Amino acid sequence: MFRWLPRQGDPRAIAASLERRQVSPPLAAALARFLTQAPDRELVHFNPRALAEQLGLDERATLRLLLTALEEGLVTLNWELRCPACGAINHRGASLTALHASEACGACGAQFSPQLDAEVRVTFSVHERLRALGRSADDPAHRAALDARLGVVSGHALLLLPEFRRLFPQQRLLPDESLQISRVAILFTDLAGSTALYAQRGDPRAYHLVRLHFDELFRVADEQGGLMIKTIGDAVMAAFQTPGEAMRAAQAMLQAVAALNQRGQLQGEERLMLKVGVHVGPGLSVTLNGQPDYFGTTVNLAARVQRRSQGGDVAFSQEVFNDPEVRALLRGADTEQEQAALKGIAEPVRIYRWQVVGPQ
Ligand SMILES: [Zn+2]
Repeated sequence: MFRWLPRQGDPRAIAASLERRQVSPPLAAALARFLTQAPDRELVHFNPRALAEQLGLDERATLRLLLTALEEGLVTLNWELRCPACGAINHRGASLTALHASEACGACGAQFSPQLDAEVRVTFSVHERLRALGRSADDPAHRAALDARLGVVSGHALLLLPEFRRLFPQQRLLPDESLQISRVAILFTDLAGSTALYAQRGDPRAYHLVRLHFDELFRVADEQGGLMIKTIGDAVMAAFQTPGEAMRAAQAMLQAVAALNQRGQLQGEERLMLKVGVHVGPGLSVTLNGQPDYFGTTVNLAARVQRRSQGGDVAFSQEVFNDPEVRALLRGADTEQEQAALKGIAEPVRIYRWQVVGPQ
């Protein structure tokens, strides 16, 4: 019997192209196998979590791998909206620029403002030049079953990957567009005592130390699943999906700066002393000066909470404290609380402080 085989990519060539992008050989081979050998229906608008499960990777590592494959032209990216009224998946194309603050469902006609972390999701498909798929490959019921079991990858998760911004700077919300986020954890830091450091060490040496501290903060934010949004003088702003991630990042940042003090043998007034604040709530995702940014009350409050930090500690709000993951992290930790009057807030607010590294 004659059986026509679809044109298929060569797995070795695919793996080699990924290795040239610093993907480890076993991982490159695994993705090449998946793209060339998985059943057709696994490769159309596929949920990255399904691939993560197959490869034994976490979600963020899987997204990094898929972004490399996207850059190599092995897969395509799909932005999708789940209608909050009828549940239909609305495909919106390959670029974030296709998303708008107000959307209409193609199935039921409902108008809605998509939330980046709730209604917006990302999937990938094998590139058609790599593998021609039969018409039966498009199997929404199969995908829905996988989504129900694994959950989906939100658009916000992808936006919080530094590689997404670096590799695909053209994928951004249009200047006058914004998307709501139901829950974003915002972390601010500031460096106490940097004036003394600049005075005592001189500008170039002090700047060098401040740069080293930025490197640590960028590294930690990424490791904990977040994204450094910007630096403001000696301060930074970072965003995370959950308060648990933000609090673990705060802890690791404080420890990293303490270690930097030790390595640099900085003593007394020269010591770098990090002040950190975390708050969580709804926000607005925008693109400002070509970069992702966040706006809204949650961001403003996070900045004010940060000012209650005294150094070596993280100040955080009741909303952060209420999170079960944060409660677990704080079990047995050295915390205190105060009622604080924050600028622009009528009632005093309860602020918690967690002393992570010893005061000076
Ligand atoms: Zn609908």
